[in-house]
Amino acid sequence: MPLVTNYVNGEWTEPEEDNRWMEIESPLDGSVIGKVVMSSPVALNAAVTAATKAFAHWGKVPIKERVQVFFKYKYLLERDIDELSRLIQAENGKTYDEAKAEIEKAIELTEFACSLPQLVQGEVMEVSRGVECRTETVPVGVVASIVPFNFPAMVPNWTIPNAIALGNCMIIKPSELVPLTMVRIAALLKEAGLPGGVFNIVNGDREMVEAICDHPGIQAVSFVGSTKVAKIVYARTTASFKRCLALGGAKNHLLVMPDANPAMTAVNITASMSGCAGQRCMAASAMVAVGDTDDIINKLVEEARKIIPGKNLGAVITKQAKERIERYITEAEQQGATILLDGRNAVVNGMKEGYYVGPTVIDHVRPEMAVAREEIFGPVLAIIRSNTIDEALAIENASPYGNAASVFTQSGSIARYVAEKASAGMIGVNIGVPVPREPFSFGGWNESRFGVGDITGKSSISFWTKLKKTTVKWNPEAGINWMS
Ligand code: NAD
Repeated sequence: MPLVTNYVNGEWTEPEEDNRWMEIESPLDGSVIGKVVMSSPVALNAAVTAATKAFAHWGKVPIKERVQVFFKYKYLLERDIDELSRLIQAENGKTYDEAKAEIEKAIELTEFACSLPQLVQGEVMEVSRGVECRTETVPVGVVASIVPFNFPAMVPNWTIPNAIALGNCMIIKPSELVPLTMVRIAALLKEAGLPGGVFNIVNGDREMVEAICDHPGIQAVSFVGSTKVAKIVYARTTASFKRCLALGGAKNHLLVMPDANPAMTAVNITASMSGCAGQRCMAASAMVAVGDTDDIINKLVEEARKIIPGKNLGAVITKQAKERIERYITEAEQQGATILLDGRNAVVNGMKEGYYVGPTVIDHVRPEMAVAREEIFGPVLAIIRSNTIDEALAIENASPYGNAASVFTQSGSIARYVAEKASAGMIGVNIGVPVPREPFSFGGWNESRFGVGDITGKSSISFWTKLKKTTVKWNPEAGINWMS
């Protein structure tokens, strides 16, 4: 059974007698598949020291040379995709295909990082006679990335390739629920030729996150997780004068018009609400049905019935998560909503101890109910009925979150109207999960993102770099002045 410690300077640390350990459970069947150390903040010092030392060299390696590591890393992700997918499936509980899609996305993110030399060339201009200004991007230094449980490979790879290719040295803090994937990622980065100390892993929980926020040796922190923790991390990190980008939770609204294509809409929304067992910050969570959409809802329930726990639906992350999700369903039922499809008490043969919730569709949900307002993070779709598109938009706009919003319609003008009025960073038209593909960037609005800029794509470059502006004049004898 693996014992996961910390990864510092290219080596795993030795377990110590007074270490606190947490068991890693597979959500598929509740079995214990490893143990991870819950390090004290003192353990962070070694990682910061290693990263600081490595930065003195790595920060000065030309970018064209730095990205060579990521060309190799991309190949290694492709080579080991099957093994990595099985590992993600075991520790996260998602299906094999979903785990594989995560690695495919990590590959796409790495391809983008390989293109960075084309994007950070800097600029030069003669701003006055004989006076030249030039800009160049330089790395920030030692940076940290704090990540959630729901994508053990993809979310870390939102930050690892870009931050490191841009010259930074990184300390990552995986979710204590899924630390095993990062063990393999560290091995692949090493095999790809990344020098020791450029990439480090510290394992732990709240205490370690707080230590990262406060540590004076870290210059930038990216965070992905719930809004509650994103706020804590953003406030604490910026209070110690670091730059911070903190992505939070979500409650995504899908607006369905009566003219929407029923088959396409049903398939898309079902996939969006049930993919990764609803544990995606881009998942369909609330559907706002405008006018008469009964045929679409019937089709949607028909599609959702084809989603079978243990087959094409994975487990949710913990027993507590299963109980929380089921509580939301029960509460909505008690408040008068109609359960069209009930995923409570799902059991998978041979996996009785696993944490499964079947696909759940709840109709006639009122906007004030918790199931309509709060992030459930399970395969549950709350349908809210509305009479007009403006009423539907008012419901979407009232959400404190703002990750994604989608509209299903055949009308270009309605699609345009929703794209303009929805208060979300990522908009879909007839798309259930409107994740922008590279080189477009990923990031929500409102309480789904704190800080400036997005976490991937071109937008991330300014987070991971500093801009240096140099103004040069060589010919004093010409008698030119600054503004001539
Ligand atoms: P979480 O906020 O519980 O944990 C995220 C990280 O913070 C973990 O590494 C964890 O160890 C740490 N942490 C947990 N509680 C803490 C505390 N009190 N103080 C300091 N650190 C703490 O999130 P999760 O349950 O792992 O992930 C699910 C959440 O992440 C959902 O809300 C989901 O929407 C969100 N998420 C958002 C995005 C996005 O792009 N906006 C992407 C993926 C996941």
